[in-house]
Amino acid sequence: MPPKPFLLFCFLLWGCRPAFSQLSPRTASYDIQVRLDTAEKKLYGRQALHWANPSADTVRELQYHLYLNAFRNSESTFMREAGNFGFMIDAMRENCGWGWTEVQRITDGDGNRLAMEYIAPDDGNPADRTVLRVPLARPVLPGGTIRAELEWTSQIPRAAARTGYNQDYYFLAQWFPKVGVYEPAGMRFAQAGQWNCHQYHAEGEYYSDFGVYNVAITLPAGFTVGASGVLQGVEEQGGEKTWAFRAEDVIDFTWAASPHFKEIKETHNGVQLRLLAYPYHEHLAERYFRVIKFAMDFCGSRFGPYPYPGLTIVDPPLHGMFSSAMEYPTLISTANLCFLPASVRTSELLLAHEFVHQYFMQMVASNEQEEPWLDEGITNYYEARIMDELFGPQSSTVDWLGFRMGNLESNRGEFFGLDNPQIADYGRFSWQFPEGSGHAISYSKTTLWLRTLEGLLGTEALDEVMGAYFRRWKFRHPCGQDFIDVVNEEVAKKFGNRFGENMDWFFGQVLYSTELCDYAVASIANTPVAPPAGIFEETEDCVRPEGKGEPRFRASVIVHRLEGLYFPVEVRITFEDGQTITEQWDGKARSREFVYEGRGRAVAAEIDPERRICLDKNFINNSRAVAPQKTGVRKYFLQFLFWMQNAMQGLSMLV
Ligand SMILES: [Zn+2]
Repeated sequence: MPPKPFLLFCFLLWGCRPAFSQLSPRTASYDIQVRLDTAEKKLYGRQALHWANPSADTVRELQYHLYLNAFRNSESTFMREAGNFGFMIDAMRENCGWGWTEVQRITDGDGNRLAMEYIAPDDGNPADRTVLRVPLARPVLPGGTIRAELEWTSQIPRAAARTGYNQDYYFLAQWFPKVGVYEPAGMRFAQAGQWNCHQYHAEGEYYSDFGVYNVAITLPAGFTVGASGVLQGVEEQGGEKTWAFRAEDVIDFTWAASPHFKEIKETHNGVQLRLLAYPYHEHLAERYFRVIKFAMDFCGSRFGPYPYPGLTIVDPPLHGMFSSAMEYPTLISTANLCFLPASVRTSELLLAHEFVHQYFMQMVASNEQEEPWLDEGITNYYEARIMDELFGPQSSTVDWLGFRMGNLESNRGEFFGLDNPQIADYGRFSWQFPEGSGHAISYSKTTLWLRTLEGLLGTEALDEVMGAYFRRWKFRHPCGQDFIDVVNEEVAKKFGNRFGENMDWFFGQVLYSTELCDYAVASIANTPVAPPAGIFEETEDCVRPEGKGEPRFRASVIVHRLEGLYFPVEVRITFEDGQTITEQWDGKARSREFVYEGRGRAVAAEIDPERRICLDKNFINNSRAVAPQKTGVRKYFLQFLFWMQNAMQGLSMLV
């Protein structure tokens, strides 16, 4: 426990602080005092939760996440599902590096000691202790509040997924007992008021309410701490230091500590950027700050300024890779693959990604466990946009020894590289995607259909739609239908009925079906047309073909829709004189023929020449020329691309 006089100092400090304008409904706020015992690798915590009932219901229980119990043993639901984290589990198993949280005591504001029981609402797994149900002695009335005080102890897992310690590096994410979200009837999918408090699963992270966090962290004096929020003060006593942080209007609080952190600070747009890196990574600061500042400007101009006073960037050491590339409110971690050349831009790409999450997930707080596409897909899409703008679309991921790869290819590679890209629709929770397909679908497929939507509406219009979605839902909890509603409203405002009555036809296809998209030019044929001959008006007058002259041709271009999805597309036909005609095709028919007489021979045809329909699984068959093409070379190049994409994807597993 931190020394009492210091706590008094902290709370006085917080109390005196000028009121920051409130951005969110502060439904779940915490005062936490925690002591890190670096010898035992344990946390000793005391916390007060201030919870406001957001509903018209009388709430008779609280439900808490005890995330660290996911690492208690091999039988937790997380561990049973944790295929992607297999190497971490092996390390925990070998080193007996398991982690847990035990709540010693919970009392309400009246001093009543409350009962507790573990529940497993998702799968009934009796070995899973990641959700704690706490029946209340006195229920919380509609609009009422409760103060719940907890004492708890945690064993920190050794380098577990996203959280834990390795040597003297600590990354504490999803580390304290955290109340679930009480969803009133009508909110998202709630038919009646209910707790949304899922067990901790290997896929999908957290979903929580906004609040204010006052957190005092006590640990040995030699450590430097980075955390969500703003540092209020540091007090040293008896070889230990207590670091006090305050984070307002956030959905979570995460911190990291190490005696080896070097602190590098910069300011951008009035926001203090604080990088904590090991000395051998200090030289990367420039690369990190460059992409963060760019992403901050990019998001600021489209959605609104980053509203928090600071952003902390934790750069894990090599032995802290378990905490790489993660997003928490006002704190993100890098994925530092320093053994790769700088022109393999994984570090930049992942930092851009984690920064965009400050908007989509941390502010627009959708439920990642239930609808992972809603934050991961949107974030992945904007990550690509930022990288394309910063480094150029052809080389936004790799530009190394003449090999260049853009972000679009890496998304196409991941989704179409699935053995079966139709394996699952979106209508499932994050842990229910079969065969590890969740990442490819939630991240990459969503990126491809958002790029397709951008292709249809135009980049500027899409950004305006997304800006409207952000502004309507920031500091709230939208579901997928809320997103679709905004798109429908904004598209109707901008385009009338140009795309139909609404965009449901689009979402019905990309979101609610598993169909694929593939357009192909089937054939180009040029048939000589003999000039008119025969009897026309008078039976005695026979019209004969005159001379040889210039031959006329009937040019025919046939295009096919080979898969289930359809989108309006352009078809560009090039004639032998170099002239082109661009046809607008609604893309619906399975086969469509375009015929031209008297224009000369058609020599080439291309569907979607601007590559607007990024969901088209095969761009090679989009074009055809009468002259033979060197498709063989392209084929081997594409195979190489796919290999590289898969390799890159493997490196970005954790985002
Ligand atoms: Zn992400």
